[in-house]
Amino acid sequence: MTAPTATATPTLRRGLILAFLRGAVRRSSFAASLVTQYAEKGDLSPDQWAAAERMLEEARTPKEPTTSAPGPSAPVYVPGLDLSSLPVGMYAVPNGTTRLKVQIDRPDEGKWLGWTFVKDGAIYGEGRKYGNQRPGGTYRGEIEDELRAIVADPIAAMAEYGRLTSTCGLCHRPLEKKESVDRGIGPWCYRKMREAVGG
Ligand SMILES: [Zn+2]
Repeated sequence: MTAPTATATPTLRRGLILAFLRGAVRRSSFAASLVTQYAEKGDLSPDQWAAAERMLEEARTPKEPTTSAPGPSAPVYVPGLDLSSLPVGMYAVPNGTTRLKVQIDRPDEGKWLGWTFVKDGAIYGEGRKYGNQRPGGTYRGEIEDELRAIVADPIAAMAEYGRLTSTCGLCHRPLEKKESVDRGIGPWCYRKMREAVGG
């Protein structure tokens, strides 16, 4: 080892820099090349030490927090939209111009007891989540208009799902009898829905 000159990086500092470089080889090819060179030659050039030191300082500087506004899909609480009386099942928007289908889930045990979850109800969909509602809260999510239409008339919304999919939105069985197909809900499930929501 040559004696350090006045401008050289102190030995202690070098140890710190090398440890940092070794920790950074996976995410930085520059760090990897310096580590390799140090292993082969036992030293780096003053410029390389300086560059590595800048890298270390940069990594230690905390990132500025992002100050951008939340994106359009950020969930928002929707006051006054209460899903708690909407029966678990599959729905579409009555008389809507959309083919959106939503699945309402409400676990009856465990950690999520009493929560309502809204998911995309398309059979071949990606299970996209459309928000939720905590017990005693209101809906929090991004499909306010669609859910308002569904909550306003859950039977019509479930029937719309039945017409779109030929499947009963409550029991998930195929609708076969003409009467059921026309109504969009199977007979037993239609009674259950009327008991649940009135009408
Ligand atoms: Zn059914």
